[in-house]
Amino acid sequence: MAVKNRNEAERMASSSGGTFIALAKEIISQSGVVFGAVFDENWEVKHTYAETLEGIKHMMGSKYLQSRIENNYQETEKFLKEGRKVLFTGTPCQIAGLHKFLRKEYPNLLSVDILCHGVPSPGVWRKYLAEISHKVIRSENCKNLKTSCTYQPIINDIEFRNKELKGWNQYSFVIKGKSSITDDNNTILYSETHNMNTYMKGFLADIYLRPCCYNCKCKNGVSHSDLTIADFWGVGRLMVDFDDDKGTGLVLINTKKGKKFFDYLNMESRSSNLADVKIMNKGFNEHILEHPKRNVFFECLGRGDNMKDTVEKILYIPIYKIFWTKIKNKIKRIVSINR
Ligand SMILES: Cc1cc2nc3c(=O)[nH]c(=O)nc-3n(C[C@H](O)[C@H](O)[C@H](O)COP(=O)(O)OP(=O)(O)OC[C@H]3O[C@@H](n4cnc5c(N)ncnc54)[C@H](O)[C@@H]3O)c2cc1C
Repeated sequence: MAVKNRNEAERMASSSGGTFIALAKEIISQSGVVFGAVFDENWEVKHTYAETLEGIKHMMGSKYLQSRIENNYQETEKFLKEGRKVLFTGTPCQIAGLHKFLRKEYPNLLSVDILCHGVPSPGVWRKYLAEISHKVIRSENCKNLKTSCTYQPIINDIEFRNKELKGWNQYSFVIKGKSSITDDNNTILYSETHNMNTYMKGFLADIYLRPCCYNCKCKNGVSHSDLTIADFWGVGRLMVDFDDDKGTGLVLINTKKGKKFFDYLNMESRSSNLADVKIMNKGFNEHILEHPKRNVFFECLGRGDNMKDTVEKILYIPIYKIFWTKIKNKIKRIVSINR
């Protein structure tokens, strides 16, 4: 099912079609509890719960690193036993873990997994964030023509999937915070499209996913989620008139409970052929291949090399190979779509 949240502001603030926020608002309106991933005070990611509209806003947007699950399974069980409605969202392995922990079906639980091709190591993110913060400090000091580092960045937001700057297809990595010049807390301090950003390039090339992600055991319904939410990559080719480059989501309905809940949401939706969608979306691959130079990457990082140079070195491909791979991929896509 291809879906779009009818509230454009909410969709723009989401990574794809804004399905998460529609589900979460419904649960909150029924006095329920929503579990999801948020940034902590160090800009690392952890799971937590929210009971208010303000609280669920922080869960919006994909955060491309592993989220710490902490004691959220115990908290979920407590709310379920109290009879509260609970929406638990996370990666397929987190949802599979939740079901294993609970050991029984709860009619008041809606579990939703995101389609996931793997989570990067938090240690790599930490290293990247430190490097990028230095870059921001240097550039803000240059703008002020200061020679010493006096500006300290106050980061207010990090978006892995900003659509405002270049749209959904060309999504950007953005850091917002306090500018040294204007004092505005929401200034864009750093931005790059995903195909130019070091961290996103390494993530999308699967260089530094957690080792277990290369042999994920939780895909294809194993997580027992009621719904799966994802990006509807390829909507521009498969449903041209539905695509507005502001984000189209994909929803897979896995259970009767999931269907009942989804039907209740008033999302703009269109049926789709799953086989076509799978071709365009890496997240469906059961086995994401470990990058052949993953070990080299961690060796370089271990001896203190910087992320940018290391990722560039590992991803370097001679021009003729890029050209040849593009042609091969195009032919593969045309053949599979016309099959
Ligand atoms: C690591 C990762 C890999 C992904 N890989 C793919 C993929 O290959 N193909 C694809 O179609 N989609 C993938 N997604 C999902 C996609 O990016 C969107 O999250 C999804 O389409 C939902 O978008 P939305 O617009 O409905 O809601 P959004 O508001 O964008 O999503 C918010 C939801 O994502 C959850 N979330 C955010 N970060 C994390 C995290 N680190 N760990 C657990 N949950 C998190 C929140 O709890 C919330 O439920 C991935 C997401 C993550 C975090």
